[in-house]
Amino acid sequence: MIESRQTVPRKTVEKAAPAAKPAAKVYSRPLSHSSISMYLECPQKFKLKYVDKLPELPKWFFSFGQSVHKALEFFYSIPALPAPTLERLLQEYKDGWLKAGYKDAEQEREYLEDGERILREFYAKNIKTFKLPLFAEYKFELEVEGVPLLGFVDRIDKLDNGKLHILDYKTGKAIPKERLQADRQLTMYQLAVEKLIGAEVESLTFYHLPTNKELTVGPRAAAQIDALKDTIVTVNDGIQASRFDPTPDEGKCRWCDFKPHCPAFRPGFYGAPLPAPAKAAPAAQPDLPGGLGDSAKLAELVDRYGDALANVKRLESDAQALREEIAAILGRNGYVRAFGSRFEVSAAAETRWEIRDRVKLLEVLKRHGLYEATLKPAAPEVYRLLDDPKLPLEARRDLEALAEKKQLPGLSLKPLSEGRA
Ligand code: SF4
Repeated sequence: MIESRQTVPRKTVEKAAPAAKPAAKVYSRPLSHSSISMYLECPQKFKLKYVDKLPELPKWFFSFGQSVHKALEFFYSIPALPAPTLERLLQEYKDGWLKAGYKDAEQEREYLEDGERILREFYAKNIKTFKLPLFAEYKFELEVEGVPLLGFVDRIDKLDNGKLHILDYKTGKAIPKERLQADRQLTMYQLAVEKLIGAEVESLTFYHLPTNKELTVGPRAAAQIDALKDTIVTVNDGIQASRFDPTPDEGKCRWCDFKPHCPAFRPGFYGAPLPAPAKAAPAAQPDLPGGLGDSAKLAELVDRYGDALANVKRLESDAQALREEIAAILGRNGYVRAFGSRFEVSAAAETRWEIRDRVKLLEVLKRHGLYEATLKPAAPEVYRLLDDPKLPLEARRDLEALAEKKQLPGLSLKPLSEGRA
């Protein structure tokens, strides 16, 4: 007999529920003074830049600031005295010059020269008292209330009393006194430096390089540091909760590279009046009649149109420079004609009058009865006349019989990000 095998009741195996995975962070990189400021300025802009990592156009004012900063970092990073010479400092500046973002070669040259001026004046003011700093371009990483932070302090000097002096170089606009007192960047630097270096901060300075002026205040009080910690936590909470509402405002949207991607500026509304500051973006705007394909094409055409006009400008300026150089060589050698392999040029001196005083000139013409003889109808004046509602009816009828008003397509173009310093 075959004994039936006893069936052992199967035990239900209870698997332990897998430990709940912590939700992935919306943004896990350390925050910096500039990323915090951007979130406070416009959460959507923060998202497009830091979370979606959309590229921004290069800006001349960033290139310029970094070029000057790098030269000063070199100046104060030497391992031992003596200080670098002015020539060495300027050479370092030129070698490290960043070219990106300038409108044209002329603007780049102006700023290159202005940076030289700034460094010369900085050198003259500081060389006699030059001392090695405690740190140049001090990088800090720390956590504040669990939020990772990252930053770079331009310079930290150790004072004779053992306390610290923090300096931040600025190459932009003049800094109002109220900003110096309230600026979060200096507060963050004090917080980081005191925590990581372990010495007390005695003073905080914005060194405004274009005017070679230092603006210094005493250390931040504990309440101001606590307020900054609260701001850091609030910003981090907003980011991790994906609170990225756009906060459109004419002043800031005008220079925002992300406008074509911003929900507050739907495709098809490029160039429409900017939304009023307090108004939320409309939830759904109609797309272009041709759909997103047309929107993408339009964006591409706008950029190509801008590039084409920029090329025309650049070529005109190149042609002008070539014209002047050729004319100078012809003049120097007494030549009237020169040949290339595909073109020839002939010297054609242009002589013209320059009027010193237009008002007096008109008086003199009238006095000598020559005024009428110099008049000829100028097209813009005729257009103005035709649009003038005070034009007598009969004259209008006669003129309109000879002219036709036409609507021509026109575009006004401007770069998406420029003009900030
Ligand atoms: S365009 Fe204006 S609202 Fe949109 S991301 Fe930029 S700053 Fe914010």
